Amino acid sequence: MKGSLHPSDAVAAPPGPPSRTRLPVPPRGTRFGRWTVCGRPWLDQRNRTMLPCRCDCGSRASVRADKLRAGRSTQCRACASLRWHQPVQRLTAREIRAL
Ligand SMILES: [Zn+2]
Repeated sequence: MKGSLHPSDAVAAPPGPPSRTRLPVPPRGTRFGRWTVCGRPWLDQRNRTMLPCRCDCGSRASVRADKLRAGRSTQCRACASLRWHQPVQRLTAREIRAL
């Protein structure tokens, strides 16, 4: 009466590509705060979805899609810094670029 149970279910799952569920990518024209999606999504080196966006102030940047979805990025750096530094004087475009 030997052990009749075969440890067949102890076999490790075959290694496969990480099946991370991809969330649908917001289409062009979708707005996240001051951002408007203005181009095709692309993947960065860590396989994160990046979205080319244009801020209401006119500057462009690629923003991580997960940040947009989480509401952690709603505007460009220039606009964010303007918000944080209670603008006593308005910065010129050249000064914003130098930030
Ligand atoms: Zn901006």
